[in-house]
Amino acid sequence: MTGVSKRTRCRSCFAPGLRVVVDFGLQPLAGFYAASPEDAINHRRYPLLLEACPVCDLLQITDLPPIEEVFHDDYTYSSSEIPPLVAHFADYSRWLEERFPKSAAILEFGCNDGVLLNQLRERGYQHLTGVDASTNMVARAASRGFDVIEGFFGSGIIDRLGKRAPFDLITCSNVFAHIDDLQDVLGAAHKLLGEGGQMCIEVHDAEKLVLEGQFETIYHEHLTYFSEGSLRTCLTLNGFDVSEIEKTPMHGGGLRARARKVRLETGTIQSEPRSAVEIERIGNSLTAKVKQCRERVNALRAQYGPLDGYGMAGRAQMFLAMTQTEKAFGAFFDDAQIRQNRYAVGTDERIEAFSPERAARACVILAWNYSDAILKRIEPYYETVEVMFPEITKLK
Ligand SMILES: [Zn+2]
Repeated sequence: MTGVSKRTRCRSCFAPGLRVVVDFGLQPLAGFYAASPEDAINHRRYPLLLEACPVCDLLQITDLPPIEEVFHDDYTYSSSEIPPLVAHFADYSRWLEERFPKSAAILEFGCNDGVLLNQLRERGYQHLTGVDASTNMVARAASRGFDVIEGFFGSGIIDRLGKRAPFDLITCSNVFAHIDDLQDVLGAAHKLLGEGGQMCIEVHDAEKLVLEGQFETIYHEHLTYFSEGSLRTCLTLNGFDVSEIEKTPMHGGGLRARARKVRLETGTIQSEPRSAVEIERIGNSLTAKVKQCRERVNALRAQYGPLDGYGMAGRAQMFLAMTQTEKAFGAFFDDAQIRQNRYAVGTDERIEAFSPERAARACVILAWNYSDAILKRIEPYYETVEVMFPEITKLK
């Protein structure tokens, strides 16, 4: 397919012979929010294949749509508009505060609208620098008074960081999964850190994805799915000594790693590959979960009429596309202004702010990782409310 480039080796350890876990066929880009119903219906779809490395175990997407289509100025994810995410970064900033002195020079890449930088500033950190590829988000962060450079983090940006380097800490949250060239990014971080400098990384936990069948977190923008082992391997191979890795509740299950810069030498593989049987089992359970969700949504539609979908993040778009249940929904709600008045892929219903008078009889909370907060607000207005993850559950 034109414009799609294909990787044949592992992104982390370069081993050939990746094994297919699931072939999802042609799927839309999760971050695309159409301005018109025509664009939503006709949006281009790209091959989506989840593969596993036979050496370091890294799960990854190997088909890359053109980068300008994946990350564009029209970026619709503004972290500070999502209260649970703000709470997450408050927690993360506390965690960093326990480990880094206030004098630390900190660089965050993929800083979005400055959601973490803001928390760090409130805690008394002063040497803060952000990098983000989205013009929109750089403008938002800059308007809050942050020093932010626009661009993709990597070797190409080192010169532009100028006198701000060396850093004591380089951090990224929910960004590492979007990186195609891991060696370039970790190499740049290695160069920009001072002696004994550290990297802190937050990623989605592949084990949660596998255990709970979170197929809707698998999309083109998420190139890699790290487990504790494969993350450790990736950092070690690029000149970092991992001090700690812990689990966090971010986005339905995350990992947080801290690693110290050491001499760049050939590190060793720290993870075990899965067996062919295990890979087949994961593939089957992801496919089974897609089918189970499709059947449940269609059953709800048959019982209650057109459904409301609440929380239209990228994973909600993937849920609709992969389960092919777009038509079961009659309305889509989202609290983030940036997504309102757009159209989810494959639908001709506009995404709107929730209002009780528009509520149908049944609602599926598609942003299930925020279901507690959402349920509190909408419960009185529905006969029934369900989530599809981690298990299909009737919340009301
Ligand atoms: Zn590998």
